[in-house]
Amino acid sequence: MIREGDKVLLIDRRGKRYLVTVSEREFHTDLGILKLGELIGKEYGETIVSHRNEEFRVLKPDINDIIAKMKRGPQIVHPKDAGIILAYAGISPGDTVIEAGVGSGALTIFLANAVGPNGRVISYERREDFARIAQKNIELAGFSDRVTIKLKNIYEGIDEEYADHIVLDLPQPENVLPHAVEVLRPGGYFVAYTPCMNQVHRFFQAFQEYKEHFYKPRVVEVLVREQEVKKECMRPKTTMLAHTGYITFIRKL
Ligand code: SAM
Repeated sequence: MIREGDKVLLIDRRGKRYLVTVSEREFHTDLGILKLGELIGKEYGETIVSHRNEEFRVLKPDINDIIAKMKRGPQIVHPKDAGIILAYAGISPGDTVIEAGVGSGALTIFLANAVGPNGRVISYERREDFARIAQKNIELAGFSDRVTIKLKNIYEGIDEEYADHIVLDLPQPENVLPHAVEVLRPGGYFVAYTPCMNQVHRFFQAFQEYKEHFYKPRVVEVLVREQEVKKECMRPKTTMLAHTGYITFIRKL
């Protein structure tokens, strides 16, 4: 049952989505005004009607809805890349993950969702303005209980003594290798997301010094080709999100 203070996703007849917090206030849309107080006591899947008699379906938002609607600072990690990070590194409930930089907090939200209420995500960020945006986004997603944002340059060191995994989205992941060797548990993954090929090259040049500590590396790029499904024709969409980044996985021995 929906209660005051809950986050709710509303979908109109055109498929437009609205993320709202349930309260006694009014919510204005181009399809009419909604009295959000009418949501209290409803079940997800029911509808709410605007003063112009337009129906809105009421759903429980998931993390993709939160990420789509949250405030952005820097570019976020796309869900296709977040998915493979979680899957290939085997990030699991109860894990402790060290992340940097937090940016807008999108990848942090995926990580926090995967580690669950008994896990921890410790996210280093060197810019205070981005840390503030990410903190709000993490609160919006309901994960403040398991995420700690640290205002610190991770190249200078990792304060924690233990990590199941280290996940990086910053320009020079090779600078974190010496710290990772100290804190990463055997079997844990070091994951680096980098948009450019020369970053991957630079990483592997530096990696030579540390390779005895890691199982053989794996570098992937994820391409998702969405399909257009129409009554008479099903085919790939003519446009797609092509390159986002390279993802490097190395596993600690
Ligand atoms: N993964 C994030 C997301 O999905 O929202 C986006 C990360 S953004 C592309 C890169 C972030 O790394 C920026 O916020 C930047 O300030 C931060 N950063 C860069 N170098 C850093 C460092 N040495 N230590 C901590 N944060 C760093």
